[in-house]
Amino acid sequence: MTHVVIGGVSHETNTFSPIRTDLPLFERRAFLRGKDVIEQSRGVSTALGGIVDAAEDRGWKMTPTLFASATPSGIVTREAYETIVGGLVQGITDAQPVDGVLLPLHGAMVAEEFDDGEGELLRRVREAVGPNVPVITVLDFHATLTPAIAAHADIVIGYETYPHIDPYQRGGEAVELMERLIAGEIKPVRTLRQVPMLTPLPPQFTWGPTPMNDLMQLSLQLEKEPGVLCIMLAGGFTYSDIPDSGVAVLVTADADQSVADRVADQLARACWDARERFLIGVTPVDEAIERLRASAQGPVVFADVADNPGAGASCDGTVILDALLNSGIDGVAFGIIADPESVDRAAEIGAGKRGTFQLGGKVDDLHGPTLQIEATVRSVGDVSFTNTGPMGRGALTRLGNTAVLEAGPHGEVEIVVTENRVQVLDPELFRAVGIPPEQRRALVVKSSVHFRAGFEPIATEIIEVDAPGLSSPNLFRFPFERVRRPIWPLDEGVEF
Ligand SMILES: [Zn+2]
Repeated sequence: MTHVVIGGVSHETNTFSPIRTDLPLFERRAFLRGKDVIEQSRGVSTALGGIVDAAEDRGWKMTPTLFASATPSGIVTREAYETIVGGLVQGITDAQPVDGVLLPLHGAMVAEEFDDGEGELLRRVREAVGPNVPVITVLDFHATLTPAIAAHADIVIGYETYPHIDPYQRGGEAVELMERLIAGEIKPVRTLRQVPMLTPLPPQFTWGPTPMNDLMQLSLQLEKEPGVLCIMLAGGFTYSDIPDSGVAVLVTADADQSVADRVADQLARACWDARERFLIGVTPVDEAIERLRASAQGPVVFADVADNPGAGASCDGTVILDALLNSGIDGVAFGIIADPESVDRAAEIGAGKRGTFQLGGKVDDLHGPTLQIEATVRSVGDVSFTNTGPMGRGALTRLGNTAVLEAGPHGEVEIVVTENRVQVLDPELFRAVGIPPEQRRALVVKSSVHFRAGFEPIATEIIEVDAPGLSSPNLFRFPFERVRRPIWPLDEGVEF
């Protein structure tokens, strides 16, 4: 019987964030151990879920280790890295002998000691299992692809969609390729090409008329060429200020290095040639408010693209909220402000009562000021919900202790205030706190692109709003120090 060992870790590290990512932050989102890794992943639309289901379909024996995931934030502490990666590698070592190792990871984890968190993880895994046991990893589209990742995994598979609606399929693909690898049918060789360009998140959207859509279509077409096993086209994670950051291409071919080289060169060149299309404008806050005022029908969705906790921003930015409160426009639902102190304050005040709040703007000074507001507490309590939209369907999202506040003179703005930092990517979040999103004139979501999967079907209009924050598309606002230079668009005269 085929025997594989599985496990992984997921963190996207925004090195500009002051939030240090420690073990409690992993525990808060997900830290599965032993059989829970399998039992809590069956049928869930994640890469791990896809791996578990496909391996069980084949009747494989799976030894689980651990799987940990934290909301994107700042650098991962030494303790958290060593506990998780150390535990994972120990579990893989203990599971020997195995026929293969399957690792759903993210690919943009930066730890205190290691810029390339996954490269170091894969190096240790390779050391533990030796050169002959196949290792396949599935990475997020926002992975920072590095020489160590390319060196230590036999096959690297990346998500092909943003919003990420295909991780489950990519997990299945990992099992399929593992089956062929174990059978000795294929002999993977890899070529990595790092393109000297950093791109903001919104134009990485892979539907509609975006540059990344065109590049992904090319990648999928090249993947069908004879001799190509798989292609990972990575948008990279721009907000990790490490030397390897940027767009990259990793092509895995069957035995023929020249095929991998040629295809990687072609796709990397196409990325470079498309670079100017990644420079996009976002709408100033005042202009967004005027467009909302002029709209006949809702819901208009305001995307707070710069305060996306899914990219490591604080999720307590107040600039758009302040403008909406001053606008007098009613029927607005604001998702979300992560501010545990204000949730506690709401609990003290009690449901149905009115009080003063010092809301948001507390994590750092990059997301607008703390607002003093008068609001009525509509509800307060612990909230979790199961995702029903196209992203992560079946997965549990934990908001933690959550309050809904009604602010403005007539309660015209409903503000969802949470304990946890959570990207608003599923309309179910609003329903879980008693707000029917379809019935609102405007919805504010702190998300760069992921919200589109769930909110495009209900939105009458989507406006990407230019507020300050750690996922701002304006890359010139960031104090990059460590990324390799020259790099586009930060420098002029970059050649590739
Ligand atoms: Zn991603």
